[in-house]
Amino acid sequence: MPRTMTTQVQSASQRQMPAAHLTRTMQLLEKTCTDLDSELSNEINDNPALEMVDEMRCPDCKRVIRTFPCQICLNQHGAAGPIVYVAPRRQNHSAASDSEEYLSNDNRIRNPESLAEHVLKQVAPSLDKQERGVAEYILARLDEHGFLLEHTAEIASYLRVRISTVKKVLELLRRADPVGIASENVTECLLTQLEVLDKDGMGNPLAHDLLTEFWEQLGRRDFGAIARKRHVSVESVKLAAQFIKRNLSPYPSQAHWNNAESASGRYFRPDVEVQKNPHAEDGPLVVQVFTAARGSLRVNPTVRDMVKRIEEPEKKDEWSAYLERAALFVKCMRQRDNAMRRIVRLIVKRQPAFILGDDSDLIPMTRAELAEELELHESTISRAVASKTICLPNGRIIPLSLFFDRSLAVRAAVRKIVNDEEKAMTDEQIATKLVDYGYKVARRTVAKYRSMLGILPANLRARQLPRAA
Ligand SMILES: [Zn+2]
Repeated sequence: MPRTMTTQVQSASQRQMPAAHLTRTMQLLEKTCTDLDSELSNEINDNPALEMVDEMRCPDCKRVIRTFPCQICLNQHGAAGPIVYVAPRRQNHSAASDSEEYLSNDNRIRNPESLAEHVLKQVAPSLDKQERGVAEYILARLDEHGFLLEHTAEIASYLRVRISTVKKVLELLRRADPVGIASENVTECLLTQLEVLDKDGMGNPLAHDLLTEFWEQLGRRDFGAIARKRHVSVESVKLAAQFIKRNLSPYPSQAHWNNAESASGRYFRPDVEVQKNPHAEDGPLVVQVFTAARGSLRVNPTVRDMVKRIEEPEKKDEWSAYLERAALFVKCMRQRDNAMRRIVRLIVKRQPAFILGDDSDLIPMTRAELAEELELHESTISRAVASKTICLPNGRIIPLSLFFDRSLAVRAAVRKIVNDEEKAMTDEQIATKLVDYGYKVARRTVAKYRSMLGILPANLRARQLPRAA
């Protein structure tokens, strides 16, 4: 969304800066890390005064570091509270990310080189020297599932090659074995595999539609809805879904390199990741808050010097606007990262039992409480929490907003009560039992939670009893 120069000049006047500043920080805070990634690319593309320097700096001590977290700041960390740091999401490991080296050098389950070599061997004969370089770059940047998390334009600009070159290389890579490698996401990967099967005369047109048009319904296994919209029988939808399950693999790297590590629920990229302390069982939790910048974002000093020398007023204004906008963006990104970090630190500090335990360990807390303790506005907390996800040490990815879900612990109790029941209990009886757990909940609320948990009402549960333990 490139804005016109006129708007930039207008909006960049000094007087309007504080408001613009706040609005921009709030906008950035609201974005998931993935959206922040594209926002950053857009901003860099649109603004010649903004640049990303290929060096990593510790946000605290400003030293240039090689890996996150900064060892110097880490050593100064007291025993209290989790270790929380802001880091870019690295390409080789979407989940384990940068702390990989810090966590353990021997802990690598798989050698990513071998997969890269395997693919490169197949495509190399069709590539010239430059394209081969692009292929090597891409293969080195795949995440643990074999996905490519960088945009084509980003790669092209980083490697200083044409976008069409990157596209050509990607086309080849994605069709190499394992098919779908270097895809952007699960859907794209599945579609590529389907396309290859199609060429071999083994395709399935309905499966194609399921992947392109009915992805969500497919996820919910809502075959009836798909059948109605597509005017086919439920049975044929089920068959197409089965076809997908049997013939396609959502994770290209795992399709080929049988990986013992469970990937369930990990294909979408979390905004925050919590890990147990690798050095001490009861040591502080290690938390990464992901940000978009893979380097140091700054106002380009060469442009700044150049603008000083411009004499023509109109041109000077135009370039000054670029400079201001770049400075604003750098500042707002930093504030976004800082706010995220403070908020996440407090959440993790308050909920270690839930993070390491289960839903019943959640301690009810509100956005307002956090806001007060952090001296932030409640809406700031809401934005920071909205639509973001956190990966817990057991690999489970949950919405950050779940930490504020008062009903979660009650729901866990409802599940426990039903699991333990000898005879199907009515909602009324469950409500009474909940008092033992310290929850006073209306019968209607129990019914609501029960249905959220996918538990049938008592009269229908009764038929299923006795249940296998
Ligand atoms: Zn540091």
